[in-house]
Amino acid sequence: MSNKKELVCPLCQNTEFEKQEGKIDSKWGVTAHKIILMICKNCRFILSFSKGRTIFDFD
Ligand SMILES: [Zn+2]
Repeated sequence: MSNKKELVCPLCQNTEFEKQEGKIDSKWGVTAHKIILMICKNCRFILSFSKGRTIFDFD
C-alpha cells in the first residue's frame, strides 16, 4: 500500500512529471543544498522542492 501524495500540475492537472535533482551552490559554497525539480511533461511547468522539506515523498 502506498501512502504517497500524488503530484498534480497546478496549471494543467497533469500527473506525469520529469524528476531532476540539482544543487544550488552559494557564492561562498557554504549553503549548498539539494533541490528537486519536478517538470510537468505536458506544459513544462517546473515545481521545485528543497530536499527534506517537501510534503511529497520521492524515492
Ligand atoms: Zn502542466
